[in-house]
Amino acid sequence: MGTDVTTRLYPRERLGRVQQAAGRAGLDAVLLTPGPDLRYVTGYDAKQLERLTCLVVPASGDPFLVVPRLELPAAQASPAGGLDVELVPWDETDDPYALVASRLPRGIGRVALADRMWAVMALRFRAALPGAEQVPAGDVMRELRMRKSAAEVEALREAGEAIDRVHRRVPELLKPGRTEREVGRDIADLILAEGHATVEFVIVGSGPNGANPHAELSDRVIRPGEPIVVDIGGAMPSGYCSDATRNYCIGAPPEDYLAYYRVLQEAQQAACDAVRPGATPEAVDAAARDVIAAAGHGEHFFHRTGHGIGLEGHEDPYIVAGNTEPLQPGMAFSVEPGIYPGPHGARIEDIVVCTDDGYERLNNVTRDLVVVG
Ligand code: ZN
Ligand code: ZN
Ligand code: ZN
Repeated sequence: MGTDVTTRLYPRERLGRVQQAAGRAGLDAVLLTPGPDLRYVTGYDAKQLERLTCLVVPASGDPFLVVPRLELPAAQASPAGGLDVELVPWDETDDPYALVASRLPRGIGRVALADRMWAVMALRFRAALPGAEQVPAGDVMRELRMRKSAAEVEALREAGEAIDRVHRRVPELLKPGRTEREVGRDIADLILAEGHATVEFVIVGSGPNGANPHAELSDRVIRPGEPIVVDIGGAMPSGYCSDATRNYCIGAPPEDYLAYYRVLQEAQQAACDAVRPGATPEAVDAAARDVIAAAGHGEHFFHRTGHGIGLEGHEDPYIVAGNTEPLQPGMAFSVEPGIYPGPHGARIEDIVVCTDDGYERLNNVTRDLVVVG
């Protein structure tokens, strides 16, 4: 990634926005240890270590980044080094929690901790700031992270194109006699070869395993005539994630499968068509669920329709009954209804972005069943 790309993805004003949000939420400080929140605010993809790295954003006053001296060069070289943030190194025999406490105002009332902070660190902060109430930083961070900027949407679009290229090559890996694990290893290699920095997950669910939405790769041999659910994703060098599910079969699939696959395609399209600013996530979920229920398969669709995606594979907003927080332009999430009657199942998953007047799909490889051989 060039400097320009980094600056567009991780703009300097984020720090100020966190500070303002903290003030509005009645927080005295936000403490962000390595993870997606720290990366979102500073661009620093810091390692999670037992030694404390922590960005401290006080509601008033200057933010600072506490880093182990060993990590100082990495922090300086990261985008965080170019921000208006003091880097505060600590040495091996220092107490970094006391260091943070000493730089915050006395009698601090409420601190927000990164949702992904290790419990052991949260407990050390509790001891170092005994009067402070601890709350999750996610309550303020989600508001910022849920609506993607144009640069973030572009990063998600690149991730979508990369995982689509992998799906286009899946058919050549599907040969009778190969196991799910063998195919899955090849897919993992392709995820990296097509531009991802990491492989986050690979699901190759053949036959009955396709009826289990979270099937693990197994040594099961894939047989002709068995539908296969392939759900794959990774994280790009930008930090942004991909996630897409397509369905394959070596030879002709069973007739009953083809019948419910058509229902699933209709349901997935109906859910996408329900995406627009002001629509609720639960309405998007219902759009898919109503089609599947009307076809008599309601009980065979037993998970939510989707999840937000960005620097994390699963984040807000969740596309589920009960979520009535209206969609806004820039929100990015999966639309992934499934039908799992056994002894096989199917799921179709795209990442979509809510636009000013509807939606954009970030996965565009065919959603039809791909018959191989
Ligand atoms: Zn998926
Ligand atoms: Zn997903
Ligand atoms: Zn059914």
